[in-house]
Amino acid sequence: MSTVVLIMVAIINIVSSPSFYQTLRRNVPRFTYSFFAHASNDSNPRISQPKKLSRSQLHKYQRHDYSSAAYASLTVRKLQRIRPAFVIYDERLDNTTRASSTSNDAEYDFDLLVIGAGSGGIASARRAASYGAKVGVVEMGRLGGTCVNVGCVPKKIMYNAATISETLHEMHHYGFSGYETGSITFDWGYIKRSRDAYIERLNGIYERNLVGSGVARLFGKASLVVNERDPNTVDVIVSQIDYHNSTLGKDMEPQRYHAKHILLATGGYPTIPAGSDGSVARYSISSDGFFELDTLPQKAVVVGGGYIAVELAGILGALGSETSLVVRKEKALRQFDELLSSALDEEMEQNGITIYRNTMGVKQIISDESNGLKTVILNNGQSIEDVNVVIMAAGRSPSVESLNLEGAGVRQKKGGYIEVNEYSETNIQNVYAVGDVCGNVELTPMAIAAGRRLADRLFGPPAFQNAKVSYEDVPTVVFSHPPIGTIGLTEEQAIKKYGKENIKIYRSVFSNLYYGTWQVDANEKPKTAMKLVCAGKDELVVGLHVIGLGADEMLQGFGVAIKMGATKADFDATVAIHPTAAEEFVTMFPWGLGSQQSGARVSPLNGAAAPEPLLK
Ligand SMILES: Cc1cc2nc3c(=O)[nH]c(=O)nc-3n(C[C@H](O)[C@H](O)[C@H](O)COP(=O)(O)OP(=O)(O)OC[C@H]3O[C@@H](n4cnc5c(N)ncnc54)[C@H](O)[C@@H]3O)c2cc1C
Repeated sequence: MSTVVLIMVAIINIVSSPSFYQTLRRNVPRFTYSFFAHASNDSNPRISQPKKLSRSQLHKYQRHDYSSAAYASLTVRKLQRIRPAFVIYDERLDNTTRASSTSNDAEYDFDLLVIGAGSGGIASARRAASYGAKVGVVEMGRLGGTCVNVGCVPKKIMYNAATISETLHEMHHYGFSGYETGSITFDWGYIKRSRDAYIERLNGIYERNLVGSGVARLFGKASLVVNERDPNTVDVIVSQIDYHNSTLGKDMEPQRYHAKHILLATGGYPTIPAGSDGSVARYSISSDGFFELDTLPQKAVVVGGGYIAVELAGILGALGSETSLVVRKEKALRQFDELLSSALDEEMEQNGITIYRNTMGVKQIISDESNGLKTVILNNGQSIEDVNVVIMAAGRSPSVESLNLEGAGVRQKKGGYIEVNEYSETNIQNVYAVGDVCGNVELTPMAIAAGRRLADRLFGPPAFQNAKVSYEDVPTVVFSHPPIGTIGLTEEQAIKKYGKENIKIYRSVFSNLYYGTWQVDANEKPKTAMKLVCAGKDELVVGLHVIGLGADEMLQGFGVAIKMGATKADFDATVAIHPTAAEEFVTMFPWGLGSQQSGARVSPLNGAAAPEPLLK
């Protein structure tokens, strides 16, 4: 008997030790681990539990989307069975329960209910949960949204592949050989499979991060409905949707949630114009479709003048597709500084991309059913024949259709984007919006920053009561070939804003040292072009633009300087890093002779000491 008691005491000791918990955390299967995301929900009768899936269904979900598997496998019974073993885990589990103390109001299902688990939504949800708020996120697709699944991440991987291809083409300039003998091959299928697997891993990481932050995951499509008790506020209805044609949620009733704050972070989606007879939509793919291509198209047409179009054209061209870029007007990236758009235009042509200009778009696509080849007919009468793939990258729209914004009274602006003020507030009391769905600066870090700042303001300490983001001076990179970095005003915008007499432009065009040894005509060497746009007597740097090798990694640091109000003199006072391309920005002619005004808190000019922090 005493032996039995001793064994039981030993088991209790092991189970309640932190190391046991750590080991368990490391080893429990992903979907089991995910139960905890929803652990707080089972105590709330308003939040329904989905049906349990069969093992084969579960496997299907595990392959495609860890998060849905986790959610689908959640049952109240299972939670009750598992929770006691994780008593030690309660501190984190209770995150969501404790959170209701933020609102001190038991009538709410959530302090913050986020619609959309993309860049902005996840960032906001996790930040709010870190303050102890009770947070839920509704997602109808894969975790991570556009950026992770069909945007920045897979795009950058393909950009890297294209950059390697370029390097291989250029290696003979450095004494390497092999390309010309055909011993180097490229397998598009391989990189696609590795990319997809990587993204699936990221989906899992996002899932675990949400779980770890104590954020409840709700799977389904959300829409808004007016709250009958308080018509100035709205609730969220979540309908369970079929996912990957599974039976998940087929017979589920839509659920209604009452949240103190609702955040709309539903992002956007690519739009394809139908064309004169619907054929453009029928025979083309979007940027989403680009990431589904199983083979490198032999001949591709990319339609669009924005950054996504030039990025995709650059990737295809560098990897060996015969690529054409179709733009409506004279060239792509017309909203960028003229130096950049012109330099890129030249480089793209130099790289073998055919640019169709002043086309006014695509009129029609004719598909030869016998071989799948397409003829693209442009509005200016030109046509492109024998095309394997047509990619329409000519525009995106906000994902608002399913939200019932009109019914809920949420105001929209041109293009359907949600109207928000500087604090991400819509016109409805408890509804906010961040990210692409607002159509301000449609970039991942912008959505993340806006989402976090909103959570800071709603749930953070008093120091954050006025927290908001600035949409000015956002550093932006275009992963074209070569890449572009840009921040602040273009020359044209600066002249318009401050007057020509107040603007001073510094410009530099050169060949990177990387191309120095190449035995080719100087004109054939790829160029780096840079511009500083300075305003006022103190020559405040209000715009910085660069295209060329390394521009993508160059910009972030200059972004900090510009945010801090650096002047040309501050640039000049920073000693160059040699030999780099970036050093050109701090040595632009005439170096050190301009107005001796600093924008910094402590002037670094004339050998001044480094600034000291303000201590408590
Ligand atoms: C090809 C491409 C390349 C890009 N490259 C870059 C880049 O290099 N750098 C960069 O910074 N940005 C890039 N972007 C832009 C970036 O992806 C977006 O700015 C960013 O993802 C916006 O985040 P978000 O949170 O607003 O929305 P999203 O990330 O789009 O997330 C919205 C989420 O909401 C979900 N959702 C929508 N409606 C509902 C509903 N009713 N109910 C439940 N869920 C819903 C969607 O399924 C989605 O998961 C790129 C975009 C594309 C298309």
